This record gives sequence, C-alpha cells and structure tokens, in this order.
Amino acid sequence: MAKLARLDDIVSLCKRRGFIYQSSEIYGGLASCYDYGPLGAELKRNVRNAWWKHVVQMREDVVGLDCSILMHPMVWKASGHADKFADLVTVCKKCGTRSRVDHLQDSKPSNAPVPAEPQQSQDLSGKVCPACGAVGQFGQPMAFKLMFETQMGANVDDTMTLFLRPETAQGIFANFRNVLDSTRIKVPFGIAQIGKSFRNEVTTKAFIFRTREFEQAELEFFCKPGTDESWFEHWKQQRFNWYLEYGIKKENLRFREHEKDELAHYAKACVDVEYKFPFGSGDWQELEGIANRTDYDLRQHQRGIRTMNDWYENKGDLTKIALRQESEDYLKGPLAYFDEETRERYVPYVIEPSAGIDRSTLAFLVDAYDEEQVNNEQRNLLRFHPALAPVKAGVFPLVKKDGMPEIAMNIYNDLKKYFTVFYDEKAAVGRRYRRQDEAGTPYCITVDGQSREDNTVTVRERDSMEQTRVHIDQVKTYLREKLDL
Ligand code: ATP
Repeated sequence: MAKLARLDDIVSLCKRRGFIYQSSEIYGGLASCYDYGPLGAELKRNVRNAWWKHVVQMREDVVGLDCSILMHPMVWKASGHADKFADLVTVCKKCGTRSRVDHLQDSKPSNAPVPAEPQQSQDLSGKVCPACGAVGQFGQPMAFKLMFETQMGANVDDTMTLFLRPETAQGIFANFRNVLDSTRIKVPFGIAQIGKSFRNEVTTKAFIFRTREFEQAELEFFCKPGTDESWFEHWKQQRFNWYLEYGIKKENLRFREHEKDELAHYAKACVDVEYKFPFGSGDWQELEGIANRTDYDLRQHQRGIRTMNDWYENKGDLTKIALRQESEDYLKGPLAYFDEETRERYVPYVIEPSAGIDRSTLAFLVDAYDEEQVNNEQRNLLRFHPALAPVKAGVFPLVKKDGMPEIAMNIYNDLKKYFTVFYDEKAAVGRRYRRQDEAGTPYCITVDGQSREDNTVTVRERDSMEQTRVHIDQVKTYLREKLDL
C-alpha cells in the first residue's frame, strides 16, 4: 500500500532534489514565494501542458489566450475587485495572531457553511484561535485588501495606479469581443488562459498551497442562458476526470458543493474539487473551483465601458469613480451576443473552471510520493503519470569502460530530440536507479556488456522495477508506446 506523504517529506524531497526552493533563500527567504528548480520547472510545465491539452487542444469549442498581467484600472472597478476584493481579518487578543475570519473554526463543530463573501457583522464568540486555542478572544474584524498596487509611468494624478491581476479571468472577459471578432467561433465556446496571479493573502500556508504569487489555469465557457446548468455539469465531470487521468487516486478527490448562502452574490452554483492534502485542519482542501457566474461579468464590463465616458470628462482616480448603471438596452451592448441563426440577442452565461497550477502540482507530488522497503533498504519514489514526470528516461552505461559510455551517449543523443532524458554514469547503477526513482523517472535504459554483442539494452520500469531487453533501434518506439507520448 502506498505510503501517505507528510508535508515535511515533500518539502525536504523538493529541496534536496531541486523541485522547489524558497524564493531569495540566499537572503533569508521571502515568505510565501517559491522558485521551481530544474525538476520542478519540468514538472510544472508538464502540468500546464496536460491542462492545456485537455481544455484547449483536444476541443473544437475552446481557444487560448495569453493576456498581460497589468490591465486598465477600469477592469478591476467593473469586475468588483477594486471595491470588494478583501478578506475580513481579526487579531487574537491573547496571542496577537492575525487570522482570516472565514478560516476560523468553531470550538464546537457545526455544519453551518462558511460564508464566501466578507461580512461586516461576524459573531466570533465561538471561534477558536488557530495559534493559541483561545475561544472568542478576537478584536473587531477589519477588511484587508488583497490586490497588490503598482504605478504605471509617473502617475502624477493617480490615474495610473494599477493592480497586479488577482485572477486571470478578467483578461478573458475584456477580450471576449476581440476573440469573437477575430475568429469564427460561435457560442457555446470557451476561452482559456494560464498565467500568474497575485493576491496579498492575509495568511499563507503549507508550502506552495497558498502563496502570494501563483499560477492559475482558467476557462471561461460562454453559453446561452438556459443551457448553463448542463454545461456546468459537463465541466464538473471533465475537470474531475482530468485529475484522475493524471494519476490522482480516487479516494483522495471529491466534490464539495457550495451551499446557497455561501455563494458569491452573482453565482448561480459553485462546486470545489477538493484533494485530501496531508496538512491543515480538515485535510480536504480546494484544488479548483467551478462556478456558474451567469452573465454577471460581461454585463459589469458593459457598465465599465459606459463609465469610461464620465472619466474622459473628469479624469481622476479611476478606482474611486462610481460605476454607471446598466443601460436599459444592455442586450445591444458591445459584449452582448447576436446569434445569426436564431436571430436572438443575449448576454452569454459563463461557466468557469478555475484551477491552480501550483496547487495541483503539489497534489500530484503528494499523491505520487511513496516509500517502500526493497532488500532491507528504503526506496523513495514518485509514481508520477508518465506525461507529468519531469524526466522520461535515464540513460546509463553499466560501467565507465568497454565502449559502454559511447553507446549510451548515442542513445541519449537520439532520445533527447523527442523526450526529456538524463545521462548519468556516476556511482553504482543501483544508486542511479534510486536517484531516478526519487525524481519520478518512469524508465531507465542501461547499456551493459551484452549490448555490444547483440545491440540490446535493459529497460527498467520505475514502479515494478521489472527489466526488459529491448533492441537499441526499438528503444524510441518502446518508450513512445509506454509513455503514451
Ligand atoms: P480561498 O478562498 O482559498 O482564498 P478562492 O476560493 O478565492 O480561494 P479562487 O479565486 O476560486 O480561490 O481561485 C481558483 C484557484 O486558484 C484555487 O482553487 C486555487 O487552486 C488557486 N489559488 C487561489 N488562490 C491561491 C493562492 N493564494 N495560492 C495558490 N493557489 C491559489
């Protein structure tokens, strides 16, 4: 049975083997920021590619986008982030620890859902401080703004105070019309994007689970009102199956439907895909949120476009300007859709699956982690799905003589055109196998004495440790089939 990973094991493996390092470590580190090392950069790239393959490449009804991180300040006014994107925070009077109100646990567990939106009046009398355990000893909750601010140009009149985007989704809404006008795509269709987002989180935790700079993979799927519920179901299943397909164990994955009073005011439905992480208070934590956002965002941006006219007249700080009311004929607005076939006009509803690339990378690491005893020695391994494995094959000469390194180097040079492969001739072959097991490499190819006689090599499989003899000319095809690449 697979060993359950502890977060400490994962953090130490990641550091030791070059998956993930603390940011700016040489200067003592920068809290909640992380750097991906040589193996981590490959792993994360593979996670991104696996998402893109399923959400964009394999579908006729989804196109990709890659927006700038800095956007016009009106984007965040219209989306609601400039005014409302804040967490309620409180400080424990006993120990001084600052906590997010929606993360506080009841002293006696209740089934009441946690509100998703910051609420001004909160009864914290039954809540427990996660640091010192004091019950109900909290100060007045205060709003803590989550967007990072920056300036564009000299910004003398505050008109160009910008925000680092806290989600990639708004870039998609802002380009909805561009995509419609420059492609032949028709509703229902989706626009997908992967990119960095920034949130000045109140508390960060658990390694790369919650950080202040992170990567999101988001899809906004536009559909006709009335068809939204079935598209919501469709994407729920698609996204759940994606995690299973790439190796997450079924018992570690579940849906959590949001209660009605937990939903953001514009959302019609929301479900989280949760993973059983080996940390935190409740184990089950959000990996991805899938929401039915209705026509809220596109209608808000139509209000934003109208508001720009006021701004052209008065200038000033855009984030403080009042958003104009919606036009009565909003169905004729620039972000409304006209269906040529049915001659209908509507503002599309949006289904949004929103995943975290770093968070799913952590889940794939945790789920793949295993330890087992082999010949009285501990073997550490990462049982990655081959598509996610940072290195697909290790290539070794058994010993550094008798022409073996030359043959192995030729194989390596041929394979590297197709796969990420690693050549290693140092130390005993058993140790080289262990190093690749720990990096999650699915196959190792070893050139030995017999190779010179019959042109065959040993191919060793990571999980079973089984060895097969394969003709050198067949190695590439063999790997292709086994890796399904
Ligand atoms: P929470 O309530 O936990 O702060 P959220 O519900 O606001 O998160 P979303 O806005 O739905 O999160 O973001 C979608 C996805 O982006 C999340 O499921 C997660 O995978 C990822 N994500 C969000 N915030 C962070 C973060 N600070 N660090 C890493 N990943 C994040």
